[in-house]
Amino acid sequence: STHEDDYDHLYKVVLVGDATVGKTHLLSRYIKDSLPKAPTATIGVEFATRTVPLAVGGTVKAQIWDTAGQERYRAITSAHYRRAVGALLVYDITKQVLVLALAQASFQNCLKWMEELRQSAEPDIVIMLVGNKVDLVEKDPSTRQVYYDAAAEFARQHGLIFSEASAVTAHNVKHVFEHLLQEIYNQT
Ligand code: GDP
Ligand code: MG
Repeated sequence: STHEDDYDHLYKVVLVGDATVGKTHLLSRYIKDSLPKAPTATIGVEFATRTVPLAVGGTVKAQIWDTAGQERYRAITSAHYRRAVGALLVYDITKQVLVLALAQASFQNCLKWMEELRQSAEPDIVIMLVGNKVDLVEKDPSTRQVYYDAAAEFARQHGLIFSEASAVTAHNVKHVFEHLLQEIYNQT
């Protein structure tokens, strides 16, 4: 196991995405391997940390910043983004973000978050696109609103890493955080 203060790199990572997509649940699952108690609770602090060994590159202390619900009003402060070298851009695979006849309508909001990241975080920020709530689709495939291939293509076009996950079952949660951390290391 790794001592919390014994690390080679410190990376600030931010969670972004619309309200209710599951950002706080993903963070809680990763940090505490449990779900937050109140449905809309934040993790209670500005950020949470976890120190993990990378596959290649030593040990990283991840400082992961959650929002306190300001995304509802698109009022995330610049302090949230400042000096962030990585981001998890989360969406809900069971929600059509906009009802439009365009194939990429679901990604309109993702585009806005990317714009905000690229303006306010480090210019070469590494972004992991995360389609959350895959457990709902496993239970009932008809609930899927955003197709895997469409999201993968969107990610490819915009230079993002991509994965689907579930905070409820923990499916891919460790992977999305740690793959992002490894990519930050690989790209810096
Ligand atoms: P945030 O606003 O993006 O931080 O979203 P929250 O983490 O507060 O979650 C919003 C709602 O989505 C809550 O009711 C959660 O129970 C639910 N939720 C979050 N993650 C998942 C998931 O992976 N699967 C399912 N089925 N529900 C989830
Ligand atoms: Mg939240």
